[in-house]
Amino acid sequence: MKLGVLALQGDFKEHVKSFSQLGIDTLEIRNPEELSNLNGLVIPGGESTTITKLIDIYGFRDAILKSVKQGMNIWGTCAGMIVVSKRLTDPYPNPLGLIDIEVSRNWYGSQINSFEVAIPFKELGPKVFPGIFIRAPYISSVDESNKSIKVLARLSDGTPVAIIQKHKNHKILVTSFHPELTDDLRVHQYFVKMTE
Ligand code: GLN
Repeated sequence: MKLGVLALQGDFKEHVKSFSQLGIDTLEIRNPEELSNLNGLVIPGGESTTITKLIDIYGFRDAILKSVKQGMNIWGTCAGMIVVSKRLTDPYPNPLGLIDIEVSRNWYGSQINSFEVAIPFKELGPKVFPGIFIRAPYISSVDESNKSIKVLARLSDGTPVAIIQKHKNHKILVTSFHPELTDDLRVHQYFVKMTE
């Protein structure tokens, strides 16, 4: 299994470190050619406008869409979730449209309104997950009647914060929080398992 972390901007190093703590080597992806034969790609947290601009400048857009069609899974965290979503309530950036959700950027306020909250995440076991939200995006719309989509975790007010969509030959996972900034490796493990 070959996993990569998109290393254009944001906290890709933290993802690489989390996977290495699980004993898994990942590639830092900086050229579209490096996507070939990847089974899974992480798009990290950071700044979605910058990441999207760099995706287009370096010719990643078509390459990512092609690899996904050929079966590559993706996990987007925070800014990465914005990048892979279908629609934004904001006028920019132009997302990749890989998961059927609508997202609003910076919903919870600015940097000082960042917060940490324990999230029940059933598929990871009974222990709650430490959710770190930093200028986090809000999932403003998700069609839960769509059988391919599953909400994996919610805030106590019902807001979805982790979703998976299973397409025919690939899966897209998103989290609006940052597992790579915690010592809890269970979401990384979950991504590995779903990609194996
Ligand atoms: N607010 C950022 C954006 O819009 C996301 C923040 C993050 O990834 N922590 O891209």
